[in-house]
Amino acid sequence: MSENRQPLLEVSHLKKYFSASGGGVVKAVDDVSFTIYKGETLGMVGESGCGKTTCGRTAMGLYKKTDGQVLFDGQDVHTLRGADKLRFARRAQIIFQDPYASLNPRMTVADIIAEGIDIHGLAKDRMDRTEQVYRLLDLVGLNKEHANRFAHEFSGGQRQRIGIARALAVHPEFIMCDEPISALDVSIQAQIVNLLVKLQREMGLTYLFIAHDLAMVKHISDRIAVMYLGTVVELTRSERLYEKPLHPYTQALLSAIPIPDPEVERKRQRIELEGDIPSPIDPPPGCRFAGRCALACDRCRQESPALREVEPGHFVACHLV
Ligand code: SF4
Repeated sequence: MSENRQPLLEVSHLKKYFSASGGGVVKAVDDVSFTIYKGETLGMVGESGCGKTTCGRTAMGLYKKTDGQVLFDGQDVHTLRGADKLRFARRAQIIFQDPYASLNPRMTVADIIAEGIDIHGLAKDRMDRTEQVYRLLDLVGLNKEHANRFAHEFSGGQRQRIGIARALAVHPEFIMCDEPISALDVSIQAQIVNLLVKLQREMGLTYLFIAHDLAMVKHISDRIAVMYLGTVVELTRSERLYEKPLHPYTQALLSAIPIPDPEVERKRQRIELEGDIPSPIDPPPGCRFAGRCALACDRCRQESPALREVEPGHFVACHLV
């Protein structure tokens, strides 16, 4: 089990607050803790505005933290300087959500992919650089004829493959996949997930895979963390979460995923979530899900539930679990 493996990314009590433009504090990430073990994929799921991307970016050191600690292979990400910082930038890469916006339209595919190779001095000479680019194109299902073309000549799925090749070019150990399939057609999503799974197996990669719905992370995640309004409300092994979700929010998210069997689909009960995710500006005391939870009681509105381990490896933040 992952608990016996070596931790790669350890996030402890991480907070990221912003000042809201009209006053108040946006508590985008509020006391989030999780560990990602070497070789595994942690899926992180929640609706837009739940803080998952901010959490991932703060964990990667792209945003300054407000409080807490992030260790990557034992080193504090937010205090890295000089050569250590550059080394971390090579070991931990990001694949972005929008393959249309994240690739420079004025650069050839070869130059996009080789950017990291150049920064980190990973090619012996020009020929070695070109060979590395060809190898990376092949690895992600493209070919060397694509090297001298520009990003706008490719489809969304192909652009995401280019983004993956760019991340792999520097031989990372860890990749934060920031909603890498959300902007793609449903028919293409599975291809990109399958590619990421294949690359993980071949290269021993570790992923943080961020997505806004549970259907997207199902086939790639070993464990899943469900986020709601800046906090993790449930975290457990993937099969366990789909089989026996314990938090009312996870139950509602899962009930929204259609089941391909029409008989089962007709009989099962949907849990409707009322309203949108509330504003993270100065959230009220108590459970942040209370305003949308059918089970909310007085205690829920006064006391914030802590994330507790309710069975081995299964963490839930709810007074009633
Ligand atoms: Fe619902 Fe209360 Fe549990 Fe929050 S603590 S999820 S409001 S039952």
